Amino acid sequence: MMGGTWIGLIFALAFLLRCLSASPGDRDSIYRNCVWQCETEGLAGSTTIPHCTNETVKEGVWYAKEPLYTQWRQLNCKADCRYHCMMKREEERRLQGLDPVKYHGKWPFLRIFVFQEPLSAALSALNLLVHLTGWISYYKLVNYNLPLRPQTKRPYYEYTGLWHIYGLLSINAWFWSSIFHTRDIDLTEKLDYSSAVALLGFALILSLLRTFNVKDEASRVMLSSPILAFVTTHILFLNFYDFDYGWNMKVCLLMVAIQLTAWLVWGGLTRHPARFKLWFVVIGGALASLLEIFDFPPYEGYADAHALWHAATVPLTFLWWSFIKDDARFRTSDLVKKAK
Ligand SMILES: [Zn+2]
Repeated sequence: MMGGTWIGLIFALAFLLRCLSASPGDRDSIYRNCVWQCETEGLAGSTTIPHCTNETVKEGVWYAKEPLYTQWRQLNCKADCRYHCMMKREEERRLQGLDPVKYHGKWPFLRIFVFQEPLSAALSALNLLVHLTGWISYYKLVNYNLPLRPQTKRPYYEYTGLWHIYGLLSINAWFWSSIFHTRDIDLTEKLDYSSAVALLGFALILSLLRTFNVKDEASRVMLSSPILAFVTTHILFLNFYDFDYGWNMKVCLLMVAIQLTAWLVWGGLTRHPARFKLWFVVIGGALASLLEIFDFPPYEGYADAHALWHAATVPLTFLWWSFIKDDARFRTSDLVKKAK
């Protein structure tokens, strides 16, 4: 039991993302001065930041005075200044023989076009794709390949709908993750965190319903409503009251620890035919999450520990959907046998 909890704790770190609002990099006075000067004058060293200067806005264009357009320019000005000052400061530090430091909770990544963390963004998109294909193949399996109940023409597998919701929530979470790694602003950060919390919360409900074999509607509602209420409150709290990274970390840790322990123990107790896949995903995920703990700076400006963790979840996601499909097959064949 303790082993499971321990693995759960490590695994959860994967979803905990960045925990500090201030980092050594942005506490540095040279960097701060550079950003301040850049935002007022539109210059970071020798680089001109077009969004910070008014000259580039053509006189008389109708959108120049639109409040949304002004806001968009300000956002870009801030982001570009931070980026160019960070790169300038990092170059100076490198020449002094100093190691890279984090800025605003993130390592100094090299940009590609608009992509702030190109590798993490691309890998998030790849995770999305693996979830999408996994979900589609699961959909085909339960609706077309496996026998349907003769009276209702619906799948035998009792958790069909729950895994559909899980698939959609996963796709949503990875979508916002790729957007957040592309452009880190207040809105994308909130959408990314909220989607991750929603996914973890639902995954917790699903793990409990499956491992405790809860099949009738009333018991399902009884078990899931307190969790649903808590997760909703937590998301509202983060978005509209206090975006508390530390508190969010604790909540996510707890949710993940419970579900991983449930899956691990259940796989062993029921001697589930696909338990090795299940264990592989759980233990593999825990080991991959060690990357998040060792959190090293980006290699060649691109591949940091977080990006590698996103790479590791790709094969694990593939195996996870394979486990889900196995579970649907075994349950269906059991139920068909019983019906005969
Ligand atoms: Zn990420």
